[in-house]
Amino acid sequence: MSKSKLKIAFYWAASCGGCEVAVLDLNEKILDVVQMADIVFWPVAMDIKYKDVEVMPDKHIDITFFNGSIRNSEQEHMATMLRQKSKTLVAFGSCAHEGSVPGLANLSDKAEVFDQVYIKDRSTVNPNGVTPKTETCVKEGTLKLPEFYDTVKTLDQTVDVDYYLPGCPPPTKLIAAAIDAIASNNLPPKGSVLAPLKAVCDECPRKRDNKKIGKIYRVYEKSPDPDICLLEQGILCMGPATRSGCGAQCLNVNMPCTGCGGKAPNVPEQGAAMISALASILGYDGVEGKETYTEKEIEELINQVKDPAGTFYMYSLPASILKRKVIKK
Ligand code: SF4
Ligand code: SF4
Repeated sequence: MSKSKLKIAFYWAASCGGCEVAVLDLNEKILDVVQMADIVFWPVAMDIKYKDVEVMPDKHIDITFFNGSIRNSEQEHMATMLRQKSKTLVAFGSCAHEGSVPGLANLSDKAEVFDQVYIKDRSTVNPNGVTPKTETCVKEGTLKLPEFYDTVKTLDQTVDVDYYLPGCPPPTKLIAAAIDAIASNNLPPKGSVLAPLKAVCDECPRKRDNKKIGKIYRVYEKSPDPDICLLEQGILCMGPATRSGCGAQCLNVNMPCTGCGGKAPNVPEQGAAMISALASILGYDGVEGKETYTEKEIEELINQVKDPAGTFYMYSLPASILKRKVIKK
């Protein structure tokens, strides 16, 4: 990369906006960013239009940090354009990385989402059952809206991605480390996840005894010992299946990891890895030597997991082998 100032862009697709706030959480480090880079596109913070990007030459932007998954045609268009205009594209945050919470909409399709949001929702008054259309004619002309897709996609299911910065939002120390790597032209090979090669359990200070659990508690049902592994106290913790980099920060406040760091290194799929970790620990507590279980016993044990999709795939459904619910047309 040249020694002249870098050109950096930020974009926000289907996400809550927390990733944009995480950039501001850099505090004084943001001064390093301003010193080494000109921010050429950041719709949430700058008055700039899509047409300003359209006229940029290809590869004009050095690095684009793209947060959010791809839910509609506008986001897909921007992902394609920013890919074309950027030398390096970073999937910034959990939604761009593995689909995250917006990706749970893949348990439904467009018709079901619209039906719930615009027709059935108790706070909606919509007697004519109007739902968004891509084109609506009014006397002043035709109003256009992006097309809402059936399926939420990750950024790399849409365009080629160079790096991944995981987290919901990415921890500021990972963002700062990425900025330092960019500034010193010291980025790892293309395709790398810019986070440590460890699982959250590896950063967690809690004591583990390889104990079996027979009962699963939801977080509000138990006040856990702050020094003992939550999973071994029966509270589902995604730490074994999740990439670290956050310093196990949820565990430090006595809350389980919900998995926002995405799949742990060398794990093909976060949800399946967690189901496997749980299977290895779940059993009848205190029943010494019990190795085999009847179908009914197994069912009793696994039925304790409320909302399995939202637990095991909260951040990764679009990137998982499941991807989405089958659509029957
Ligand atoms: S499962 Fe959760 S609580 Fe237990 S060691 Fe791993 S991160 Fe810590
Ligand atoms: S502990 Fe888990 S959920 Fe919490 S910030 Fe870290 S990766 Fe995300």
